[in-house]
Amino acid sequence: MAYRTWQVSKREYCERVGREVALEAEVVYPSEVLPDQPPRVLARRCSNAIECNQFEKPACLWSGTNPTHDPL
Ligand code: SF4
Repeated sequence: MAYRTWQVSKREYCERVGREVALEAEVVYPSEVLPDQPPRVLARRCSNAIECNQFEKPACLWSGTNPTHDPL
């Protein structure tokens, strides 16, 4: 059976919040029946996105609210 999980892909300093955040990727691993298939990335997000989206202004592409701004 295929297996999905969120993994930290890297950590970077974000100038908007003034601290280090984790960039995460949702990865799906194939079932044992298809062992030669590589894992696939389904989505990416920032570990601080929920907090950033509570501000009244759009944050960045990592939070999903402003695709034209990448602070990292
Ligand atoms: S959601 Fe965007 S602005 Fe907020 S901490 Fe993450 S990278 Fe920085």
